[in-house]
Parts: sequence; C-alpha cells; structure tokens
Amino acid sequence: MTTQDRVTSPARSGATAVLAARDLTKHFKVHRKVRGTTIRSGVVHAAEDINLELHAGKVAAVVGESGSGKTTVARMLARLIPPTSGQIVLNGEPVGRGHVHDYRHRVQLVFQDPFASLNPVHDVRYHLSRALKVHHKARGREAVDAGVADLLAKVKLEPASQFVRKLPHELSGGQRQRVAIARALAAEPSVLLADEPVSMLDVSIRIGVLNLLGELRDAEGMALLYVTHDIASARYFADTVTVMYAGRVVESGPSLEVTDHPSHPYTQLLLSAAPDPDRASPVVINAGTIPSLINPPSGCRFHPRCPYAMPICSTQTPPDFEVGADHTAACWLRQVGQGSPAGSPLPADPPSC
Ligand code: SF4
Repeated sequence: MTTQDRVTSPARSGATAVLAARDLTKHFKVHRKVRGTTIRSGVVHAAEDINLELHAGKVAAVVGESGSGKTTVARMLARLIPPTSGQIVLNGEPVGRGHVHDYRHRVQLVFQDPFASLNPVHDVRYHLSRALKVHHKARGREAVDAGVADLLAKVKLEPASQFVRKLPHELSGGQRQRVAIARALAAEPSVLLADEPVSMLDVSIRIGVLNLLGELRDAEGMALLYVTHDIASARYFADTVTVMYAGRVVESGPSLEVTDHPSHPYTQLLLSAAPDPDRASPVVINAGTIPSLINPPSGCRFHPRCPYAMPICSTQTPPDFEVGADHTAACWLRQVGQGSPAGSPLPADPPSC
C-alpha cells in the first residue's frame, strides 16, 4: 500500500469507530513520606481531554516525546489503568467498570519491550497455548498445537517446529516481538494497541515488524493504535496521526495532511528532528525539554518552548482550530483572523512577545 492510498481518513468516510476515547483524562497522585506519614504532594497531569477514534482496518498513530502522555492513553484504552474522567466507547457502547475479561477478548495490547513482556522461563508454546486457553480459543492438545502453529504462521515464524520450544532469550528481538504479537492475536481481537512496538528493535528489523502489523490489519480487519515517538514512521504506517505534547493533543488529522502541512509549532519541531534524506541538515526550531507535568505551564503548554509565543499563549489554553478537512491544531496562531491563516506555514519570524 502506498501513502497515497491512505489519503481518505476514516472520520471523513463516516465509519463508526470500533474504539473511541472521549475526553479521557488521567491524573496520577504523587505521595511522599514526612516523618513516617504519607501525604499527597502533587498531581501528575499525564493526559487530559484526549479524544481519539480507532476504525476497523485502519491505523491511528499517537506521536509525541517521552512524557507526552501517549503511553498513558494506550494503557487507559487497554484498561490497565482507570481514567480519572472521560469515557471509553467500544463499538458504540460506553465501557463500564466491570467485564474486563470480556474487554480483553476484543482489545489487546502489545508492549514496547518484548523481552520484559515474555516470561523468560517459559517457551513459545507455553506463551501462545496459555493465551489460546485463557481466551477459550482452543481445548485439547491437538487443537492447541494447531492454534499455536496457526498463530506462528500469522506472524511469519515458520516452520512452527523451529520456534515452539525456544525460550525468549533464544530468539532475536524481532522474533520476540512477533511472538508477543502472536500472543495478542490469540484472543482474535478487533483492536490491537501497539505501544512503541518497534522502538526497542534494531533499525534493520523495524520495517519488517511494521509491515507485519500492516498485513495483519488488512487480513484481520483490526483497528490498530500505533504509539510512537517517530513521526516519520507514523507517516509511513498510519492513516491518521494524533500529536501529543505534555499530556494534551496539539494536532490531529490524516497522516499525510498532518506531516505535509503541519499546523502546530510542536509538530513542526518533531518533523524537523526526523531524518529526511532530501534535507541537507536537520532544522530544529527550539529543542528545549518537556515541562513538568506536576506543574504544567499555564495556557498553551508549549509556550515556554515556542518561538511564536504571544501573550495570550501563556494565559489561555488554545482550543482545537479546524485547519483542514478532519485536521485540527490547538494553536492560537490558527485562530481565524489572527496570526497565520489556517493551513499556511507558520510565520518565518516569530512575533515579539
Ligand atoms: Fe506557540 Fe502560542 Fe501556538 Fe502555543 S498557542 S504553539 S505558544 S503560538
């Protein structure tokens, strides 16, 4: 599939989301001990007001630096951590507190580190057969063996006899991640949440695992969430991109639209830091560091790093401004009638504050 085939976004096609986040917020309480007494010393604003939709047969990427809140979003969607507020909607139905087991049949998470997610003392057959039994997909030795072979074939680890008795440390990083993906597939999920699935792999095998996920999405019709810090791979792999900064969504839209016409200075920063063979040298507008999420900056959280910051930016949180079809950016420069016109490049010379 070429990038041009992915121009139409699911939202524009009017499809119903398989899984959706509605104003999802997660605050972690921070505690410390003072003279033997535990007291609350702050709140980490890890993710706030996140809206996201995952559609069947499509990849939605969530992109951001470490500390942007992207993994927190994936963990809330996987129901590993409960949201502080907001709602998860599965197939149009709000998800309640119970029925976690039933939810896991339909929504599976692939972790970043395949070595940590596989038990080092158990072989491949154990990991896959256990998943098949837990999700009631196979009973009896013959059915389980056939199920394990089928899962290994799906992730291109063939012949199965070469892999079933191997322990995690006997596999390469790419093979381990394929086993972790096969284990997630044992539930026959309709949604796969992949949290930085290739960031711990050698560069040479990343593309193979991404292509595998793409093939599985097409063959199984799954909705896929791709969490990554690499906006270049999101452009290549995803249909839509949601860019997060310091716990908030700053830009979202079809992946080609967002990466060809970035409308938020932070998206521009990410793109300028991404390797580009056509660019002579990387252009970084203001690297800086991500702010504390215990005391996040007021107004636009990017304002301490933003070369275009205006007085309003430090006092008022920008809403999502429409900058194109299904393309929004939370930046005051995009307010109609102020700063740059919607969809245009950002000003070359930052306005003085
Ligand atoms: Fe920069 Fe202001 Fe836009 Fe934030 S709202 S990205 S500080 S111009």
